[in-house]
Amino acid sequence: MRGVIMHAPGDVRVEQRPDPVLEEPTDAIIRVTATCVCGSDLWPYRGTDDVDRHPMGHEYIGIVDQIGDDVKSVAIGDFVVGSFVASDNTCEICEAGFQSRCAHQVMMGGIGTQAEKARIPLADGTLVKVPGTPTEEQTKSLLAASDVLGTGWFAADAAAVGPGKTVAVVGDGAVGLMGILAAKQMGAERIIAMSRHADRQALAKQFGATDIVEERGEDGIAHIKELTNGYGAHSTIEAVGTQESMQQAIGATRPGGHVGFVGVAHGVELDGTDLFVATVNLLGGPAPVRRFLPELIELIMTDQINPGAVFDLTLPLEEAAEAYKAMDERRATKVMLTL
Ligand SMILES: [Zn+2]
Repeated sequence: MRGVIMHAPGDVRVEQRPDPVLEEPTDAIIRVTATCVCGSDLWPYRGTDDVDRHPMGHEYIGIVDQIGDDVKSVAIGDFVVGSFVASDNTCEICEAGFQSRCAHQVMMGGIGTQAEKARIPLADGTLVKVPGTPTEEQTKSLLAASDVLGTGWFAADAAAVGPGKTVAVVGDGAVGLMGILAAKQMGAERIIAMSRHADRQALAKQFGATDIVEERGEDGIAHIKELTNGYGAHSTIEAVGTQESMQQAIGATRPGGHVGFVGVAHGVELDGTDLFVATVNLLGGPAPVRRFLPELIELIMTDQINPGAVFDLTLPLEEAAEAYKAMDERRATKVMLTL
């Protein structure tokens, strides 16, 4: 099969990879119909994370092609969505809704779904069948549900977004934008997007942002407080993962408020005293997308949300190198790869 391999930072190639095979009776093999490039794929692309001939990709939708003997909940021919972590959905961590930290978790990034086919471990727990036949727009949205929408949704949930709340969103990448969509859907009264890029600001407003704050750091925090009678936001979504973004998120949140942080942390170090004084609730980490998939699929298939609008470039898998380049150079927010 054809698949994406990152040989080194900045060196993405589509080449021949071995076809996946069923390794465990709980595995399924899917024929990937669409995949995409994640903001987190840019960390190795830019040399921040080490990379050496690594298969890429952890977002996917597709059609079940083979199933192991123990797979019961999906059948050959089903159209399915899964998340970036394979999970059994039965252990105590999964039952509590934190499938991304399942006791038997398998990271899909190690398998690499930017490929024609992918092995899905723990298929019964991981894959969710889509009812009916999705339209082209719904297909894009289902792919978004696989990671960015599910992650933005978790961030909003972790930040305790709800009716009447004021929400601040740090980060205007795909996940931040999906956090805005989630906050709107959850009934937030005011959604403040922190963004200094005109194109992203327009998307943020399209997804439900009511205010834009362009300043960063202390100035950004001051502006959020100014917009909230000096209190700060009830709920803040952190979708970047840097020292600056994390400090900004905590600083923008009122005492007793909640921060949902989903940007993959790189070099973040929190000062204990600052954290003590902040008096905020912190919940984050790799998003348990699987918890939200049934609800998100329902919202997408009934056209109540259109997260697929976050994809502003679609390319065939063979042009994956250009997809990475476009996202690295910020010419695209999120690139879908079709097969
Ligand atoms: Zn589990």
